[in-house]
Parts: sequence; structure tokens; C-alpha cells
Amino acid sequence: MKIISAEFVISNTDVMLCPDKNIPEYAFIGRSNVGKSSLINSLLNKKSLAKTSSQPGKTQLINHFLINKNWYLVDLPGFGYAKASKKKIKSFQRLISSYFEQRNQLISAFVLIDIRHEPQKIDLNFMYWLGKKKIPFSIIFTKSDKIKIKEINNKINTYIYKMSEQWSIVPKYFTSSAHTKSGIKEILDYISQMNSL
Ligand code: GDP
Repeated sequence: MKIISAEFVISNTDVMLCPDKNIPEYAFIGRSNVGKSSLINSLLNKKSLAKTSSQPGKTQLINHFLINKNWYLVDLPGFGYAKASKKKIKSFQRLISSYFEQRNQLISAFVLIDIRHEPQKIDLNFMYWLGKKKIPFSIIFTKSDKIKIKEINNKINTYIYKMSEQWSIVPKYFTSSAHTKSGIKEILDYISQMNSL
């Protein structure tokens, strides 16, 4: 898919106020610092449409971007910041559950995982929750340029092996780098394919 236009539409703290047009949307979510903003900017071929390294203390927002005038890319708040207060974690959970429970136009989520890290409970639990809610999702292993090419498969296999303890079918996954742009085309082509179904 070629990105012809990418416009910021709206930021919300309330799912009810998200755009009500019935066009397909794809949500990007992951732990703070996973590389979500960098990946979104790479996907959309923009330098800074999504803000990189947004401060963990900042208001958590659901950001809608309209792409090629026919689908939304949704930038969801980052989670798992070590110093987040209990109150912040609760409000994050409320926001995220209402988003996933209410957005019928959501075609798929992309859960971002830093390829360097061992499987983390917070991510595994979150994906398990998505599965229980029957919300389609794929994984994107980010920052693949940070490890040697021959380590990439090992890291992914370890992760998938861990997931297979909870899942009989392992979700689709991509590997990406915002620096080398690897994986960007594959993710966009996948979205394009889903949009044409
Ligand atoms: P976010 O908090 O998930 O939105 O993460 P950011 O996109 O702000 O990235 C967090 C940090 O990781 C920044 O210092 C980025 O420059 C760096 N980063 C993000 N993506 C990549 C990548 O693909 N490769 C490398 N080497 N660094 C990255």
C-alpha cells in the first residue's frame, strides 16, 4: 500500500467521542518505549505525526489518524510504565477495555513487542485478554535492527514458544525496524489486504 495521505483527526480520552464514521480501523498498542510512535511515523512516512517518547505522566489519549481517506490508524496509549500510579493504571485499563469492547469498526490490533526482551507477563496477559474478547490481533516485534539478523529468529521462536503455553494457534506476527524500515511494507500490505476483504 502506498500512503497518499495521512491526517491527524482527533485525540480522545473517551471512546464515545471517537470518530463515528464506519470505516475500518487498526489499533497500535504496546508498552511505553516499545517504539510505537517511531513505527507509526515509519508506516505513514512522516517524521513526527505520532509523537515519539511521549512522557509517561501525560494524559492517555486515543489518537485517530485518517489514512488514504479510507482507514484509521489508531495510536493507543503506551502501558506498563514502571512508575505509573495505581490510579493511572486503572484509568488506562478502563480506557483500553472500553476501546476494545466498543469499537466495532476495529479490524485488527497490532501488539508491539520489543524484539530484544524476554516475554513479559504484562504483554502476555494483555494478548490473552484480547483473545478472550475475540479481538483479532497480530504481533509486531520492533527494533529488529538492534540485534543481529541471526538472533532475530531465535528471539521470535522463544517468544512464540512461550505463547504456545496459552495459545493453540499462535497469532500472525511481523518484524519491524523504524530505522531500517524493514517490515514496514509487509505491515501496510497486510492492512491493505484486510481492507479489501
Ligand atoms: P514509544 O514510547 O513506544 O512511542 O517509543 P518511541 O517510538 O518513542 O521510541 C522509543 C525509543 O526507541 C526512542 O529513543 C527511539 O528512537 C527508539 N526506537 C524506536 N524504534 C526503533 C527502531 O526500530 N530501532 C532502533 N534502533 N531504535 C528505535
